[in-house]
Amino acid sequence: MIRLLDDLTINKIAAGEVVEGPYSIVKELVENAIDAGSSSITVEIKEGGKKYIRVTDNGIGIPEDDVEKAFLRHATSKIEKIKDLNSIQSLGFRGEALASIAAVAQVEMITKTQEQQYGVTIELNGGRLIGKKPIGCPTGTTIIVNNLFFNTPARLKFMKTTQGETSRITEIITRLALSKPNVAFRYVNNNNVMFTTLGDGNLSATILSVLQDVWLKSMINIDDEMNNLKIEGFIGQPSLYRGNRNYEIVFINGRYVKSKIISQAIELAYKEKLPINKYPICVLNLTIDPSYVDVNVHPMKTEVKFNDESDINNSIQKIISRGLSTRITIPELKVSP
Ligand code: ADP
Ligand code: MG
Repeated sequence: MIRLLDDLTINKIAAGEVVEGPYSIVKELVENAIDAGSSSITVEIKEGGKKYIRVTDNGIGIPEDDVEKAFLRHATSKIEKIKDLNSIQSLGFRGEALASIAAVAQVEMITKTQEQQYGVTIELNGGRLIGKKPIGCPTGTTIIVNNLFFNTPARLKFMKTTQGETSRITEIITRLALSKPNVAFRYVNNNNVMFTTLGDGNLSATILSVLQDVWLKSMINIDDEMNNLKIEGFIGQPSLYRGNRNYEIVFINGRYVKSKIISQAIELAYKEKLPINKYPICVLNLTIDPSYVDVNVHPMKTEVKFNDESDINNSIQKIISRGLSTRITIPELKVSP
């Protein structure tokens, strides 16, 4: 007999795609906080996020009437029609993160909009609504995710060690913080503050806060344009090479991406300058007309497709090469603690 699955089951299955582990929850929640226009975001985790993840923002909040809707599948305030996909400015748009996360964890959300006098707190357990009541709180949203995969034992077993999950979370928060220098991030792990950023819009100050400070002194500022592609950020001098691609950090229109095309282009520019099997470091934001790039290829949204790959490849390579040949390093910078 063929049956239609109920919503709880559908969300639990879909969570397999969106919620790979604690780090993907952190990514989705922080992206929501960014989309909500927050200027300050705090992420707190315990035991690698396996037991506890809390993301607090000072963004626009969710109107009381929408609070339950936010946890429904394909519920989003960010796009209305398929044609909006060609001009996406927000990081989220699929409307499946909260539904998926709630399906496989115990979730509490506290939220208030500017207009409302009181906020609301809502609790869900494995996607089931447990309770909802008014609460006094500041404008913004806090989401707490407890006991990830408590109801999917098979997934529970596949989580990494606490240390392994923590380092994935650190990596994703580092990238998100670098992608938004105008947002003040605070990252707390087991009550230890791992880093804070100032949120003053200064990328070099943000690099200094989250990456190794010695690097910044040997980085070259890029601010260049070619064929409708604008690239801003920093590239390391060839002497700063690494054994892997972990520090080839690239954003497209403020969205963190992993792209073979882009890595290849960057590495080609460094080709003669690096030992074999070594990789450059960089923090670069590419500004491209959203209609030239498709971000809707994967639920995690870190992969992208370009309309014209060879054109992109060419422009990136030229701009990086130009940067490497000018070698104007940025002046030394003092940042208050
Ligand atoms: P998406 O981000 O793709 O729209 P989500 O499931 O992540 O889907 O979130 C659903 C909706 O809940 C969002 O469209 C937004 O309206 C609301 N929302 C989620 N998180 C926040 C937040 N931190 N601040 C304000 N609104 C939020
Ligand atoms: Mg989202």
